Parts: sequence; C-alpha cells; structure tokens
Amino acid sequence: MPDIIQLLPDHVANQIAAGEVVQRPASVVKELLENAIDAKATQIKLVVKDAGKTLIQVIDDGIGMSTTDARLSFERHATSKIKTAKDLFNLHTKGFRGEALASIAAIAHVTLKTKTQDAEIGTQLIIEGSKVTSQEATVTQKGTIITVKNLFYNIPARRNFLKSNTVEMRHIVDEFHRVALAHPQISFIMLNNGSPVFNLPASNLRQRIVGVFGSKTNAKLVPVTEETDIVKVTGFVLKPEFAKKSRGEQFFFVNNRFIKNGYLHHAVLSAFEGLIKDRTHPGYFLFLELNPQSIDINIHPTKTEIKFENEHAIYAMLRATIKHSLGQFSIAPVLDFEKDSGFETPYEYQKKTPVAPTIDVDRTFNPFREDTSNANKKSYFKKEKNPAWEAMYVGLKNTPVSEIEFESEEVTGSFFDNQQTESSGKNTFQLQNKYIVSAIKNGMMLIHQNLAHQRILYEEFLKNMTIEDGVSQQLLFPLVMDFSKSEIVTLQSVKEPLEKAGFLFNVLEEETAEISGIPSGIPSENIANVLNRLISDLQNEVPETSFSVNDILAKSLAKSLAIKTGTSLSTQEQEHIIHQLFACKEPTVCPNNHKVLVTIEAKEIDAKF
Ligand code: ADP
Ligand code: MG
Repeated sequence: MPDIIQLLPDHVANQIAAGEVVQRPASVVKELLENAIDAKATQIKLVVKDAGKTLIQVIDDGIGMSTTDARLSFERHATSKIKTAKDLFNLHTKGFRGEALASIAAIAHVTLKTKTQDAEIGTQLIIEGSKVTSQEATVTQKGTIITVKNLFYNIPARRNFLKSNTVEMRHIVDEFHRVALAHPQISFIMLNNGSPVFNLPASNLRQRIVGVFGSKTNAKLVPVTEETDIVKVTGFVLKPEFAKKSRGEQFFFVNNRFIKNGYLHHAVLSAFEGLIKDRTHPGYFLFLELNPQSIDINIHPTKTEIKFENEHAIYAMLRATIKHSLGQFSIAPVLDFEKDSGFETPYEYQKKTPVAPTIDVDRTFNPFREDTSNANKKSYFKKEKNPAWEAMYVGLKNTPVSEIEFESEEVTGSFFDNQQTESSGKNTFQLQNKYIVSAIKNGMMLIHQNLAHQRILYEEFLKNMTIEDGVSQQLLFPLVMDFSKSEIVTLQSVKEPLEKAGFLFNVLEEETAEISGIPSGIPSENIANVLNRLISDLQNEVPETSFSVNDILAKSLAKSLAIKTGTSLSTQEQEHIIHQLFACKEPTVCPNNHKVLVTIEAKEIDAKF
C-alpha cells in the first residue's frame, strides 16, 4: 500500500484550531480584549458592526509590537507570555497558548496596526485566511489596533450557523461585561453599529458594576471581604430581595479571570438559603485571589472551568463570609458611596426595546427527503453530509462517515469511491461507556456520547419546531398528569412549539395535562421527566434576553432524551452517532456550548513515544 499520511498545511491546521478557539464573534472579542489587557492597556475601545459578523475592532494603548513581533504574533504557538511548561503553573496573563491570533487570521480578514512606545514608526499587516497579503510601515499611535472583518468568510457552514444579531450581540456583551468587571482600573468604550453601548471610565469596582448594570444597582450591593492564608475574597453580592427569576448577574473571577464553578456557586446559594424565594437566583460579583500554583486553569482556550487545590476550605470560607456580610447588612444600613455624575454613562443597551430573537434555519431542509417511504423511522437519522467534516476522514478505510453513503443514497463518489464495502467498525470503539473514539485522517477523535447526542437531538427538534412538524406517536391510553396551576401556564405558553415537536394535548388547563400523542422515539414513561425538566428550564431562563422559546425547548428535550453517559453502545450505534453528529450544523459544541469532541493529532501521539 502506498503511504497515505500527509502533514496538514499550516493554514488548514490553523483553521482546525480556529474551530476550537473561535466559536462565534464573541470569542474573537474575548481574545482581543484579553490581548489588550495583557499588553497593559489603560484604555480599550471595542467597535462592532452587525454583532461582530461584519466587523470587530479593538483599539488599545498598550505596549504594542515591534515589526518582527507583529509578524510572529500570527504564527501558531507564538506567545510572549510563557517560555517553559513551568510557567503554566504561575500564570499572570490571560493568554498563553499563542493560538488566538493565528486562529482568527485563518478564518477572517485581519488588519493589524501596531507601534511600541519608542519606535518612530509603526507596522501594518494585512492577513487573509492565514496569508500575509501586505506588510508596510505606517503612522499610528502607540498601542495596537486589530480589525477583524468577515468572520468565517471561508467556512460558510459556520457563518450560516451564527445566530441572529440579537443573540450574537448578547454573547459579545456578556464577554465585554466579564472583561470590564474584572478590570475597573482600565477604561472601556464599546460601540455597536456606530452608537455607544458602554462608556466606562477607569474607576473602582463598585462604580464599574454600576456603570455596567445601571445606577439602580448601587443600592443593591452588599460588600464582601475576607482574607485567609489560602484565599482572599472581595466583591459584592446583591441584597436577597433583588434575587431574580433568571440567573442574571452571577460572576466569579479568580485572579481576575472570569470562571464558572458549580461548587462555589453552590456555596453562594447556600449562604442565601432561607433569605431568597424558591427558584430565584442571587446576584454576585466575587473576586478570589489565590496562589496561581494552587489552581488548575484548564488549558483549553475557551473553557472557563477551573479546579482548586483547597476546594472545601474555599467553599466553607465563601459561604461563611457571605452569610456574615448579609447578616451585617440586615442590621446596619450599607453606606451608599457618593454618586459621581461623571460615570453615569448612558447604558443604551438597557433602554433598547428587546427585539424578538430569530433563529436562522435552513428553510429547504426536509428531514424526510431522502426516505419518504419510511416516515416512521426516526427522522434524525437522515441528514446531509458536512463536507468540512468528511474531509477529516479522507484516506481512511471503513470510516464511520462512509456509512453515510449507504444511508443517504446520495453517493457523490468523490471521497468514498473505493469504500463501498461494509463498515467493519474497526475505526470506532467506546471508552468507559462515555466517549466514542474514532480514527481520523490525521489522528484520532474523542466524542462525548451524551453531548454529541444532545447536539443531534437539539438540531432535530429545532428543525421540527421551526420548519416541519415532528412525527407524533399516538398513545393508546392518553397520559393524564397533574401539575400546579403555574406549571400549566408555563406549558400553555409553549403549547404551539410543543405540538410542532410532536406532542398532542387533549387537555391543558387548571392543574391537568392530558396527552394523547408524543414525539416519536420518546418512551412514554419518560414524558413526566421530560415535561418537568422543561418547566424548570423555562422558568429559569428568560427567553427574550437570549434565546427563543424554541431554543430552550429544544435544549431541554435534547438533554432529557440524549443517550446517557454509562450507556454501552454497539459499534453500529457508535457509527450512527458519529454520522448524525457530522450532519449537524455545529457538531463541535453541545447546545449549551460545551465541547462535544476533541481531536488528538498523530503528531501529539508520536510525541509521547
Ligand atoms: P497569547 O495571547 O496566548 O500569547 P495570541 O495569539 O493572542 O496568543 O497573541 C500572540 C502574541 O501577540 C502575544 O503573546 C503578544 O505578544 C502579541 N499580542 C497580541 N495582541 C497584542 C496587543 N493588543 N498588544 C501587544 N501585543 C499583542
Ligand atoms: Mg491572546
């Protein structure tokens, strides 16, 4: 057999890496803002157009780059922030992987203008799809201006799957909030389509929170401070009476980096226990400072999870400190700080009337197109191929993707000409009943079975609800279920999309639901769980702020019904999942934006030997 393995050209490798680093415009915003902060900027301006789809620009007054550094900064694994692996355990910067700029430049049109303090003249670079198309000297101020245009211009599948501007803008604003809150001493300006959204002068944390969330916030803040040998905690919690139905303002920062941590979140919740109503969420802005060596920042670029060495001690301390602060506040009124009218900036974003988010859908999609005679078969087993993903399997025999050919009867012949043999399944196996391992052209891929299936079901439900009616399975005996009045009201509010998904209600009023049909493929004994989860998900999210009702519904149903971790899968089932996953519009992340798969390059494996 001739040798078939080739090294991927850099621009392809960069594009693959970009898939991990850049999920949406907000990811670019985060990376660029963080670079500006690492460059010690004191003023940062963010300009976006069309929710970042057309333009994202970050202007900083930081240290800038020399001409050589400017050129190097777009190479993969080019970073000024760490030198040895040891540095990873003592991070004081936001970035360290040296991947962001290379990734962004692989999938957008990028212009960089930069100048260091002592240079007379600056450098301008233009890069398109990883290729430097121009480099020249330029007159520019000290600092860096990065302009990113036409994101995903060369990956239509990703571009098409971007959500509505409202939703993408919400993500950008979320990232902006996180960065701006963590750095009150830096001044930030943000413009969207030419109009100012935020104008935040350098200030202290309290003023920054008020600048971001509005002047009414000031009176709601209860300060929290405590210091032990392990950790220093500062920040604010919102008074219990301002707890919200939706999870709104909840921020943890560790060493000034925004993180999510369910365990510490729980510590805060438990401090509020008895003070807030059921199903409401307290607000908090908490800053933890600890020795970088006692934490493990996940090295994945987009992850915000973190592990602590002294988790239990931190939990106990956080809970006690917040309880103490809340107790103090209830006996002694908190002093309002003096209002400085200078920072009462217009927060135009808040005043805007919300626009109903829309979902971009493929209107030509017909789940039954390929197999009309067999409409009862689960429709989500029939999807189109995704060429970008197919490419990962080029050169492999018996790939799971080759199975698509048999299923879809849409043999194009190009990639799989000589693979019309039966799948031997040699290329996949299951690990710990949790991951599906699959060989790909340049290495291997690990797929999280539960998250992958969530992604598949989510897209399927979303399509059913927005374009096609889902297939319903009639029940011989209608299911009668009791709910509280308010739960029935919640269900009534989503009756229409539920019917499109395949539910049929005979009765849905007072405290009763009588269900005579359910989406095909759902075992009827699961229905109670599915509806209960749905109700709680709907009550915890505020549809108009980010996602539409359909989206929440699809997410919730997908979560309830996806194959669980711990389920053993036959080779055929494994291949089915891979096949369906790659037919999805966004196979790399689950509906809640967690990674669905990782690829490990042959190179990385080789390096271990
Ligand atoms: P990382 O931040 O992980 O080092 P990036 O790809 O984001 O990787 O950036 C690569 C390098 O480019 C950085 O290490 C830094 O030296 C330089 N750089 C990027 N953005 C800026 C900026 N705004 N100002 C100065 N230097 C920058
Ligand atoms: Mg960076």
